[in-house]
Amino acid sequence: GFSSISGIPGVRERTLIAVKPDGVQRHLVGQIMQRFELKGFQLVGLKMLQAPEELLSQHYQDLRRKPFYPSLLQYMTSGPIVVMVWEGHNVVRTSRIMVGDTNPAEAQAGTIRGDFSIHISRNVIHASDSVEGAKREIQLWFHGKELIDWTCCNHSSIYQV
Ligand code: UDP
Ligand code: MG
Repeated sequence: GFSSISGIPGVRERTLIAVKPDGVQRHLVGQIMQRFELKGFQLVGLKMLQAPEELLSQHYQDLRRKPFYPSLLQYMTSGPIVVMVWEGHNVVRTSRIMVGDTNPAEAQAGTIRGDFSIHISRNVIHASDSVEGAKREIQLWFHGKELIDWTCCNHSSIYQV
């Protein structure tokens, strides 16, 4: 049961990952999800939606005064997105490494942005940048009952239990 893994510090850490409209249009949803699955992280929430501008303005509240903010909102509302919550030890920090630099021109090959994108305005994916930020974003995009607590059958092959 879940109690057997609760002793591993941070194993229940969660982060918000979103495939942005360009990623959905380019049929990258499956490949992006596969990277998180193959890494060993656990999917605990998933939805596709046309994001309301109000929700995006809260999501990107810290960027409101940036010059690129209007075009960012225009882009993020241009089509459906896929929003996910992934769980695992250090998932916030590790996801940022898997996603790569905000500017795809700086992102390492092997990262999602490094492999699948060219320009900062179309960088295919969002990942929370801190544990606190992740908590805020998860609450923004998901109701508590939409997040699923479940135990993976091969937990002991991913973590020392
Ligand atoms: N962005 C942009 N131009 C910029 C900086 C950021 O269009 O000069 C967009 C880009 O889509 C980025 C998002 O705004 O992913 C949020 O910016 P942030 O600095 O939070 O980068 P992230 O956390 O996504 O790497
Ligand atoms: Mg950010």
